[in-house]
Amino acid sequence: MSTFDLDPVVRAVSAASRVARRAAAERANLADLLKDDKSPVTVADLAVQVAVTAALRAAGVPHADRLVGEEGADSLDAGGSVMIEQLIRLSGESLDAAGLGHAAPTTEAALRELLDAAGLDPAAEGRDTFWCLDPIDGTKGFLRGQQFAIALGLVEGRDPQIGLLGCPHLPLGESDDYGAADDTGSIYLGVVGEGAWAGPATASGTTDLAPTAVSPEPPGGRVRVCLSYEKAHSDTDRTSAALEATGVQTTPIHIDSQCKYAMVASGRADLYLRLAREGYREKSWDHAAGAAVVRAAGGIVESATGQPLRIDGRWVDAPGGIVVRTNAVTVPPM
Ligand code: AMP
Ligand code: MG
Repeated sequence: MSTFDLDPVVRAVSAASRVARRAAAERANLADLLKDDKSPVTVADLAVQVAVTAALRAAGVPHADRLVGEEGADSLDAGGSVMIEQLIRLSGESLDAAGLGHAAPTTEAALRELLDAAGLDPAAEGRDTFWCLDPIDGTKGFLRGQQFAIALGLVEGRDPQIGLLGCPHLPLGESDDYGAADDTGSIYLGVVGEGAWAGPATASGTTDLAPTAVSPEPPGGRVRVCLSYEKAHSDTDRTSAALEATGVQTTPIHIDSQCKYAMVASGRADLYLRLAREGYREKSWDHAAGAAVVRAAGGIVESATGQPLRIDGRWVDAPGGIVVRTNAVTVPPM
């Protein structure tokens, strides 16, 4: 499937998905805080980042010593001892579930080291190949009990090549209500050039996954589109204009997080538009995993100007925004 064994990587993400799902159910009791940019971060974000980093390292997965991750140890400063305690418990549960309990951090110093490992600046540190991790993508969805994703992608050169999306609340099949939390959830793996696979969020390795692919044609010629749930995450005027120019007549499906990439990769949507507001720069951990999964499933991920999406260290290079589509959908350049 790849130049190295992806089983431990799938196990790391599915174990983290299981713990994140439980954390979502008890979210009212979790320590949380607002970062300087006012985005919410919960102890679940930190616990998943700690657990996935520790799991990749303990399994000897290449390039896991340093990675590009959303959270850093500075988030611990405002959290106090309750946060540290919850963090040790939740990350320990995740590592136990992955069969790696011996690698669980038990001290604040160990937690800080694992969180700071995600501060990689690939260009400054001369890294061409690196993992990008968003431990809880769609924290707002997580806090509403709706969709969120554990997103882990491997970038080579500037291209997302391998992607994993743990989607604890997203069903594997079609649903009338993607806002509801599915009982089983789903996980997606994509290796560009080799294929994409999907399975239940509880998958314990690649053998629990089955091939998945983008839809060959929109059913009945009607393009199904995914958009962010949070209106502030895109330029609504440009988005409406692009939907009109593309001839979309269906009601958009609003879903938080990179679950939108999973929807396109599994043939349940034909288009995901993310045309950010002026001045917003997309972050690599919000797109690397999803972009790899969609490309591996036969889809296209490009800028609004039709250039392939590139990862530029901690940032995404996609002028005008991001268009995720199947071959059967054409979006006029914007
Ligand atoms: P989504 O649920 O797809 O809208 O994506 C959630 C991600 O949007 C979060 O992980 C944030 O990093 C990112 N985000 C936060 N603010 C903005 C913004 N103003 N525009 C676009 N994305 C944003
Ligand atoms: Mg995110």
